[in-house]
Amino acid sequence: MSSDHLAKKGAELLRQGATMLSESCPICHSPLFRLKNGDVVCPLHGKVYIVKSDEEEKKVKKDLVLTNTEDELIEGLNQMLKKLKEDPKDSEALLQVIRYLDAIERIRRILGTSQQNK
Ligand SMILES: [Zn+2]
Repeated sequence: MSSDHLAKKGAELLRQGATMLSESCPICHSPLFRLKNGDVVCPLHGKVYIVKSDEEEKKVKKDLVLTNTEDELIEGLNQMLKKLKEDPKDSEALLQVIRYLDAIERIRRILGTSQQNK
């Protein structure tokens, strides 16, 4: 993407009432903007997370990984439930459903604890 386009996007954000920040995007290093609703966005990448320290960065990454894993587990559970619907006697699918539920419960517990520490 050209820097011209980037400048245009930035100007557009400013027009919408966003403020330009001194921080830059961790991916493309363009200046970041804070929107009226408090979200921090990169003109190229959209919403980004600003992290003040390595520790915070690790935490944000961990939460993202866990949330993504939860999404994948739910997707897997969905697939198994469909299979089970087609063949209710499929004990292998039933076993997988239980495994998925167990894993989802565990991940929710971890996510719950990490959110309480915020
Ligand atoms: Zn960016």
